[in-house]
Amino acid sequence: MSTDEEVTHTGSCMCGEVRYRITGPLREVVNCHCEPCRQFTGHYLAATAVSTKDISFEKQETLTWYHRTPTVRYGFCSQCGSSLFWHDATRENFFAVPAGCLDQPTGLSTVLNIYIETAGDYYALDPSLPCETGDITNW
Ligand SMILES: [Zn+2]
Ligand SMILES: [Zn+2]
Repeated sequence: MSTDEEVTHTGSCMCGEVRYRITGPLREVVNCHCEPCRQFTGHYLAATAVSTKDISFEKQETLTWYHRTPTVRYGFCSQCGSSLFWHDATRENFFAVPAGCLDQPTGLSTVLNIYIETAGDYYALDPSLPCETGDITNW
């Protein structure tokens, strides 16, 4: 990941009612196989991450937050149902953004699987990627 250049990425939900812009570095993609992320996406969450200060919204009227715990919330579009964000208030400066909603090309690569102990039983984990049980503290 390059941090020494200013890069702008954009993304949106399927219907386009939520549209965002990210100015700043993107983390490489981490696949989260925890049960809530599997339910949120219908598969697993393949997400980049950005600093909260680096994301701004061009449109967000239909952005809706589901608070799964007092601190953890999932963001989705209430019109088209696209899975858009994951945010943990205890990690204030951190916003997970599903890579599939970014406009192409993203320039990203997938680098890690987490929560592999709760991965779905119907798919194989990519053997070329490192795997972690549970979360990682600094992703
Ligand atoms: Zn939408
Ligand atoms: Zn997860």
